[in-house]
Amino acid sequence: MTKTLLIKNIHTLVTMDAERREIRNASLLAQGQTVLKVGPSEQLPVHADEVLDLKGRFIVLPGLINTHHHFYQTLTRAVPGAQTCELFGWLKKLYPIWAHLDAHGVYVSAQMAAAELMLSGCTTSSDHLYLYPNDCTLDDAIRALNDIGMRFHASRGSMSVGESHGGLPPDALVETEAAILADSQRLIERHHDNTRHAMTRMTLAPCSPFSVSADLMRESAKLARCYPGVRLHTHLAESQTDIDYSLERFRMTPGQYAESLGWTGPDVWHAHCVRLDHAAIANFARTGTGIAHCPSSNMRLGSGIAPVRRMLSQGVRIGLGVDGAASNDGSNMLHETRLACMLARVGECDATAMDPRTALELATLGGAAVLGRDDIGRLEPGASADFIALDIDQRQFAGTAWDPVAALILAQPDAVDFSFINGRRVVDQRRLVTADLEVLVELTQAATAKLMNRS
Ligand SMILES: [Zn+2]
Repeated sequence: MTKTLLIKNIHTLVTMDAERREIRNASLLAQGQTVLKVGPSEQLPVHADEVLDLKGRFIVLPGLINTHHHFYQTLTRAVPGAQTCELFGWLKKLYPIWAHLDAHGVYVSAQMAAAELMLSGCTTSSDHLYLYPNDCTLDDAIRALNDIGMRFHASRGSMSVGESHGGLPPDALVETEAAILADSQRLIERHHDNTRHAMTRMTLAPCSPFSVSADLMRESAKLARCYPGVRLHTHLAESQTDIDYSLERFRMTPGQYAESLGWTGPDVWHAHCVRLDHAAIANFARTGTGIAHCPSSNMRLGSGIAPVRRMLSQGVRIGLGVDGAASNDGSNMLHETRLACMLARVGECDATAMDPRTALELATLGGAAVLGRDDIGRLEPGASADFIALDIDQRQFAGTAWDPVAALILAQPDAVDFSFINGRRVVDQRRLVTADLEVLVELTQAATAKLMNRS
């Protein structure tokens, strides 16, 4: 018989269910990987195989969902020469360093990024690995996330148009399109799991319009759509240079280009969309196309402010992403959610542009919708047992008894006390359970030193 897990005496349980119920003095009962019941403590059992008594002090909410990252960039944070660049200059500075990445670096950086994400409340992450120099494979990142116990949407990224053919990346970092498609199919057939509560799903993700051909975009879409649940992802309309490139090379805006390739629809999500125009926003809303909004990265690279308020008003699906660690330069989902709330207000010069609960909704239900899942991002019977708990007797919550749920965003907590993924305790009293954080930091420093020596 699968073990039961009871979380009892929760101060406030944020369900993100259809009525967005926030239940005071609540309990949550799970069995194995599934939530069985949530409600007021007096309506739930008092015994289970495993019991965590939160003593009336903790907020429990669905685990946060990160919809855009490049884990490998954790090895190249704060690189001199790339600290004040816009997108294209930043990429050109970093490509030669990334050319020395190896399989061990992929594994270690993926675990380091996952550890930071998990400690900051993230329970599901997407990652976009789009360069494969030396012995790198996406299998290394999948193994890393499997070992650390995080729910993972792995994107097989790719670059096929090098500098000599008008693309941005150096020729040495691009692959042939035949090899990309063959490896994409291999990865789907080896790792993709489309069942409910799946821990690993696959996405095909040619990197960006300025690093792959239109043909690879079309062929990738065709291949992904042969397999239920395999999604499509890329970077789109990130900055003005990105728009200029699209107009000059394709004589189309990024929105028109995506549509012309069949890259709109409920199985597609695009990162950034900072410069998406009115027509494309309307089209994304109509077709169910999703967006990964990455406020830190957009600020870091000076890309601009995505029109999130306008997109939400029109019904576009939006999730949040920390983006690669070289343009953030962290992987903290609580911070990112707060920044989404603040940046929307800056963008509109209007404090009503986003309230704290909407920001939380984007980080949970929004991310789940963008990744095409209805089993995560909410806590209700039948959902995956992915949830986090924060102690409201800690310093960031002092004085927030007025509304501790809003304080999750406004008062700047930066770490969770407990996290459960698929019913398994992965953070316990602020400590990562599934990996040795000190060792992981050492390994990451060593992998970075190796890249520095080679560059
Ligand atoms: Zn990115």
